[in-house]
Amino acid sequence: MQQLIRGRVLSFHADPHDTTDNHRYREYGAILVEDGRILAVDDYTALARPDLPEIDHRPHLILPGFIDTHIHFPQVQVIASWGAQLLDWLNTYTFPEEARFRQQGHAPAMADAFLNLLTDHGTTTAVAFCSVHPESAEALFSAAHARNMAMVAGKVMMDRNAPPEVLDTPRQGYDDSKALIDRWHGTGRQRYAITPRFAITSTPEQMAMAGQLAREHPDCHVQTHLSENLDEIDFTLSLYPQARDYLDIYETHGLLSPKLLLGHSIHLRPREIARMAETGSRAVFCPTSNLFLGSGLFDKGGLRAAGITSGIATDVGGGTSYSMLQTLNEGYKILQLRGQKLTPLSAFHWITRGNAMALGMDRDIGTLDPGSMADLVVLDARATPAMALRMDRAETLEQELFILQIMGDDRSIAQTYVAGRAMKPTG
Ligand SMILES: [Zn+2]
Repeated sequence: MQQLIRGRVLSFHADPHDTTDNHRYREYGAILVEDGRILAVDDYTALARPDLPEIDHRPHLILPGFIDTHIHFPQVQVIASWGAQLLDWLNTYTFPEEARFRQQGHAPAMADAFLNLLTDHGTTTAVAFCSVHPESAEALFSAAHARNMAMVAGKVMMDRNAPPEVLDTPRQGYDDSKALIDRWHGTGRQRYAITPRFAITSTPEQMAMAGQLAREHPDCHVQTHLSENLDEIDFTLSLYPQARDYLDIYETHGLLSPKLLLGHSIHLRPREIARMAETGSRAVFCPTSNLFLGSGLFDKGGLRAAGITSGIATDVGGGTSYSMLQTLNEGYKILQLRGQKLTPLSAFHWITRGNAMALGMDRDIGTLDPGSMADLVVLDARATPAMALRMDRAETLEQELFILQIMGDDRSIAQTYVAGRAMKPTG
């Protein structure tokens, strides 16, 4: 079954930091989709056929769907909880909320709501932390699989420094993760991420089990947190007195690799930066969360100069928006405070192909290359009266993108396609 999706089509083939030949824009473009995959992208006149069903999104922009590389599925009901920094925030709001995922029926209901929120905001793939309960990951994978939506997710492993309702043990964490990997990793578009929450909530015994899982399943991602907040770093190092620094805890347990996603990575020491670069470990920038929790200012330029690949992410519920556009908006401001720039082309590259490359998934998602899955977002830069007024003065594609980057949110998402299927009501 083929269909033609028509609009102004934009996709990236290189990082705008590296070269000016980085994107392809077709003012009168179209995307030919067959059975959920992209068959061709070209000018509309080159692809149109009388027998072909057609959806016309003109004058909107069509890009690859957005990718969110760090988000907490069980925190949909604690986003916007008042007045705390990281460790208080976890103890006061997050752990009690995650305990609810033990209750019958809660995780499936939240999984549906979560995936609807993602696609409403133009996000077609996310890397998600689930709760400690295997049922939470099971529910998320089941719901994503039913939508044919690519998720990377894992149940958190945590065996200390939290209420008993959200703790496992080293053995239980290993066994539950292993069973979920067997069941879900590579099932349709689902991928498993081994997920020791962070060093504070895992004993050395559990970290060793996480390392064993990573060795046994080198094809799985590993996700955790690193150096988000200064009190967190002090507490972490008191729990691992032998560690040379925070990263060394993950290093000692064999977790460093290009599959490792290190949420936040703000307050890093030179040795940590060097080891992340040498091992290809990824940093993940979470701007709305870093501002909301007062954690600090991510050094994108410094990490890039050191040779580290960074993703960008919402980190809901520490983050305050599901929108990758709002994430770019706050990211732009953090980098301003750092004396760095986030140009519109770099920004939109980052939330599409850039994040796909950070995940090593750019053959399937993040571009409009033939053979990729037809995960698409349709953007309306005149979605609000204020944006429409501003757009009247926009003369270039880059100006339009910057308006979306700063003023855009879910109202700018005219449509989202997951494997060729429209996820928002049409008409
Ligand atoms: Zn997080």
